[in-house]
Amino acid sequence: MGKGSKQRPTKAEFWSNWDAVFGEKSEDHGLTNYHCGTCGWVEEHSVWFENEVNHESMGDQTVERVLVTLSCEVCGGDIDEFFNV
Ligand SMILES: [Zn+2]
Repeated sequence: MGKGSKQRPTKAEFWSNWDAVFGEKSEDHGLTNYHCGTCGWVEEHSVWFENEVNHESMGDQTVERVLVTLSCEVCGGDIDEFFNV
């Protein structure tokens, strides 16, 4: 290796930096947009989707409003959904 040549960071180093910054298990990230407050990043199949239909009266008619609640199938905690931009 020549003098002054710098080694590029390896992929593992990149991900350990990611860990340092975000404090999450790196191998789970990038695959999922769902984050459990307890478990960290979780796969979509571990997310429980619950649709709650509310009927709200608006004047003389009723409007259906669907509320989607996301919870973790592993621990039952709340899931935050993140969207990739
Ligand atoms: Zn969980």
